[in-house]
This record gives sequence, C-alpha cells and structure tokens, in this order.
Amino acid sequence: MINTKTGEYDYGECEVCDTPMVRRLIKQDFYICGELIVVEDVPAGVCPHCGEKVVSADIGKGVLELINNSERIAKAPRISVPAIKFDLEEMAF
Ligand SMILES: [Zn+2]
Repeated sequence: MINTKTGEYDYGECEVCDTPMVRRLIKQDFYICGELIVVEDVPAGVCPHCGEKVVSADIGKGVLELINNSERIAKAPRISVPAIKFDLEEMAF
C-alpha cells in the first residue's frame, strides 16, 4: 500500500517478527539456466531485526521483466564471484 503522507510504498511490519520494515535498495540474485544473475538497486522493505525482505508486486513484476530480457542480460556487465569446491577431505569433523 502507498503511504498517503510520503507517497512512498509502505512495507508495513515484518511478517516474521512484527518490526516495522525499512525502505532499502537491495540486490536480488536469480539462477537462470544455470547462470547467476544479480539485479541491483531493487527497492524493497527490509526488516532491521531479522533481515526478512519484501518487494512490492509492481517491483516484483519489473524485476521479472528484467530477468526475462535476454538482450539486456547479454549486454549487462559481468561480475566475478568466488566459486569454492566443497571438499569433504578438507573438513575436520
Ligand atoms: Zn523481522
């Protein structure tokens, strides 16, 4: 719902712990056909207490449009992420 005073989306309270949600720009990551895609600066409500995140339906739709836009994805800058192999023999259980 939209806050009538500020004109901004009101994320209400956290569904998990009832703390008022704070407006933040977050990163969301998706795996599409085995490729990791990161969408940056997504407006979302974040719970300052437990970290729960909510995105409004409109923003969610926008994000879906972005990640379905293969041309846009092809042109997007690449980032490198650490890829670590899990090796059971290294573990000291
Ligand atoms: Zn919470």
